[in-house]
Amino acid sequence: MLVVMRRGARPEEIRGVVAAIEAMGYQAHALPGRQRTAVAVLGNDGRVDATRLEGLPGVLEVLHVSQPYRRASREWQEGNTVIRLPGGTTIGGEEIVLMAGPCAVESEAQLLAAARAVREAGAVVLRGGAFKPRTSPYSFQGLGERGLALLAAAREETGLAVVTEVLDTESVELVAGVADILQIGARNMQNYSLLKRVGRADKPVLLKRGIAATVSELLLAAEYILAEGNPQVILCERGVRSFDGAQRFVLDLAAIPLVHGLSHLPIVADPSHGTGARGRVLPMARAAVAAGADGLLVEVHPEPERALSDGGQSLAPDEFAELVRQVRGVAEVVGRRVAEPAEVGR
Ligand code: PEP
Ligand code: MN
Repeated sequence: MLVVMRRGARPEEIRGVVAAIEAMGYQAHALPGRQRTAVAVLGNDGRVDATRLEGLPGVLEVLHVSQPYRRASREWQEGNTVIRLPGGTTIGGEEIVLMAGPCAVESEAQLLAAARAVREAGAVVLRGGAFKPRTSPYSFQGLGERGLALLAAAREETGLAVVTEVLDTESVELVAGVADILQIGARNMQNYSLLKRVGRADKPVLLKRGIAATVSELLLAAEYILAEGNPQVILCERGVRSFDGAQRFVLDLAAIPLVHGLSHLPIVADPSHGTGARGRVLPMARAAVAAGADGLLVEVHPEPERALSDGGQSLAPDEFAELVRQVRGVAEVVGRRVAEPAEVGR
């Protein structure tokens, strides 16, 4: 961190900054320049509170030399984090992992039909919300515990791993009892008590980007989980809100190579929420894999027109099968391969 002094800052102001840095327990090193002096903060652990220095007399600005997150950064760990699911599928390595299923678990028949269809098409992870975070309190909120039981039964039959959302700290244990991957939804990306709690869980976490979160904020949210001791974090780009109402969200695909440069953590894309429209899911799925996504999270419903949530963006089984076919081709072009369902035998 570098504290840049105003032009003409008085020597006692520079001494004041040096003293403040030392009082915080760090070393200060004044670097006099022709135009102005800068004071380097040395020996810090990345947790310096810049606001304490910004307000001091004579200070122009405080510049951050390194990223605010540490454990999530490539500096902390050079090689990719590779997460292994029960059955052997890996996320973050060469394989591209397809996670698919309904937005919400609605019934036994609906979930089993979806699970069989996505497995048949080539998915290795079944998605489905048992607890649904809905914008309106009057919308379908999910089946809760019964939904979890249906997910466990679908896994039993198909061998698919299960990713499902956990909404609050109180239900982490319950959801972790069934889920192979705990999903933190976009609305909860900055729910710090929840992040800390899943940071103490023994399950991989799929962390979705908040709808107005920067990439840096996403990585800081991941840092909360990593700092509690859970190294198994999968990031998810699911679209951010923009000025343009033409689409539900804007899927920020450039964030994928950006994150790969900044962090060792895997990142998957959710072209369903990222577009909000069935017809745009396939093109964005292809583009996400081309951009380097480590997997896809896709909403698939046996009868999208009857879905209790997100029907308009859910693919029918045959549309998902076509997506898998095309994504396999794209994966090959970028030197990767789609993880095979056969690897999920239990
Ligand atoms: C979901 O995956 O069903 C979901 C609610 O997504 P998000 O948190 O990204 O809105
Ligand atoms: Mn949904």
